[in-house]
Amino acid sequence: MIRQFELVEKVRSYDPGADEGLLNRAYVFAMKAHGSQTRASGDPYFSHPLEVAGILTDLKLDSASIATALLHDIVEDTEASVSDIEMLFGADIARLVDGVTKLTRLELQSEQTKHAENFRKLLLAMSEDIRVLLVKLADRLHNMQTLHFVKNPDKRRRIARETMDIYAPLAERIGMQRFKDELQDLAFAELNSDARESILARLDFLREQGGDLLERVREQLALDLEEGGVEAQVSGRVKSPYSIWRKMEQRNLSFEQLADTVAFRVVVPTVGDCYQALGVLHSRYPTVPGRFKDYISTPKPNGYRSLHTGLIGPEQQRIEIQIRTREMHEIAEFGVAAHWKYKQGAQMVDGRQYRWVRELLDILDHASNPEEFLEHTKLEMFQDQVFCFTPKGDLIALPSGATPLDFAYAVHSEVGDTCVGAKVNGRMVPLRTRLANGDQVQIVTSKAQTPSPDWEKFAVTGKARARIRRFVRAREREQYIELGRNMLEKAFRQERQDLTEKALKGGLKKLKADSVQDLHFSVGTGNLSAMDVVHAVYPGTKERSGWRKVVSIGRAKAKRDKSQDHAIPIKGLIPGMALHYAHCCHPLPGDRIVGIVTTGKGVTVHTIDCDTLQTFAETPERWVDLAWDVDGSSVPFLGRLHVVVANEPGSLGNLSTVIGKNDGNISNLKITNRSIDFFEMLIDVEVKDLKHLTDIMAALRAMSVITSVERART
Ligand code: MN
Repeated sequence: MIRQFELVEKVRSYDPGADEGLLNRAYVFAMKAHGSQTRASGDPYFSHPLEVAGILTDLKLDSASIATALLHDIVEDTEASVSDIEMLFGADIARLVDGVTKLTRLELQSEQTKHAENFRKLLLAMSEDIRVLLVKLADRLHNMQTLHFVKNPDKRRRIARETMDIYAPLAERIGMQRFKDELQDLAFAELNSDARESILARLDFLREQGGDLLERVREQLALDLEEGGVEAQVSGRVKSPYSIWRKMEQRNLSFEQLADTVAFRVVVPTVGDCYQALGVLHSRYPTVPGRFKDYISTPKPNGYRSLHTGLIGPEQQRIEIQIRTREMHEIAEFGVAAHWKYKQGAQMVDGRQYRWVRELLDILDHASNPEEFLEHTKLEMFQDQVFCFTPKGDLIALPSGATPLDFAYAVHSEVGDTCVGAKVNGRMVPLRTRLANGDQVQIVTSKAQTPSPDWEKFAVTGKARARIRRFVRAREREQYIELGRNMLEKAFRQERQDLTEKALKGGLKKLKADSVQDLHFSVGTGNLSAMDVVHAVYPGTKERSGWRKVVSIGRAKAKRDKSQDHAIPIKGLIPGMALHYAHCCHPLPGDRIVGIVTTGKGVTVHTIDCDTLQTFAETPERWVDLAWDVDGSSVPFLGRLHVVVANEPGSLGNLSTVIGKNDGNISNLKITNRSIDFFEMLIDVEVKDLKHLTDIMAALRAMSVITSVERART
């Protein structure tokens, strides 16, 4: 176990300006907080955060990262809280520790790794500061190094699987080759120890047979390069058992067929030297076709740069060679962490903490291919996404701004179509709520539900929007057809003509319609008047009194009773599609109503005494008789009240209490006028029908503070 002063010395060796006091305080605090806790190995628990800190000093990270490593398990495993840490170590350290803790909790939540790709993105998205991720990876690395101490084999396996599926690729994603290799090999040892053992045994055998092959080849290559005038450091290594095994799997080769188990690395001073070294080696040894890759001119997405080639080497054996500069080498090994080190000097010393994004942008100034680097290395590429869980722990990735409705459609179209509500982290929320990273979303469905036209206003995913739109269009068409059919039936009845399918078909051509359905649709949308259809089908029909009469009676209610049997029932017509309730008079079941057809929009329902109707006096063809038929409807209607209330303490509260007691739900309230003595206001109340509203009005009138209550007519 590394000791306190050793840790501090190590940090100071690469960062003379390191905050020694911070490191010492973090060390002591973590040691005390973990107290007598122990690890599966029997070691004191504190050895773990200390080792994690040690791993990060190898990456030459700043003192804040090292302190975070020391404190990383405090919140999850001890009594201390994030605010304790903030008090003792400041907001920055607290933020970093909190970040690591969140990732740890996320880790505990994910039993399944089948959505590994998404889970990695989630980790990236949640690691707003790259140092959080680096601490987390070092944490995982040490846990893997000590995995064999864990007694439960299922647990070992799960952790190894997770490491293989999530953390190793994540390390690769941010360019930390060395972390990746070690994580993979440790996981491989747990997941497939037989395969690993046999590969190791085979490698031993080859080594015995070939003598010091690796060293002989290395020396020869170094000599070749020296003769070729290139200053180079050459190193050789046997590939890791896991990478050998993967190649065997991928190319379906046996171990004997797998020739290149050794790899060599040539490190040179400049980019020009890289190509020169390549030229030297290619002129001396036959190349293996298809193995040359120039990752210098085209770096890998994670920023990796090197030349790769395959040769038949000095011992007539296939070998792999990587050629790179020192800087490329450090970036290849440590990825983002290496960038960190390179720019550490200036900003870190004066203690200013930058968010990692700005860090990366900084580095771009020095990167040779900024576009590539920015494009691929910035983790923020995932910030435009939001990652949420299903109750079972499956991950769903959505664009940021997505709502529970988008989530529902992402789960399944059926779930979306029948969605009536959502619980986010256990609490009911409106469907239009914006989801946040890590939210657990549970969708409540009902077979009776269908997509609502409103949904289109807040769904953001293409899938949800397309599905809602398609449904609404289809439903709208049905509605117009239904309305048109009713209007035609009424018109024919009124004109005492027979309405038969055959008769209608006879008129199709004249009316330029393709089918009877089309005809219904045109009448329903108001593009064709019902009387025109009557005339087309029965030329010479004299218009009877009905249409004109509607207009002539205007507001004379009594006369309308007769025509009630001609009225079109509005049952089954969905508000917002073919049917709209007028905003001027807010008709309620129980009100006498009339419809006004607007071309392309269907019918707007007004109360028969609504002033707006005067506007349509000159266009009788637009009037439609309507009748309520809403028994058993669960959808509330909106009544609008004009109320004058005394301006005194508590009067508004009493008013809403009375409405509430009478089962009315206030959906909107607008004060239109306010004087010293009175409030004048408009109140929208959700009610069942007219009677419900009049009951509420009666209850309000009984209140002493109420001066007047009327239905609003605007
Ligand atoms: Mn830990």
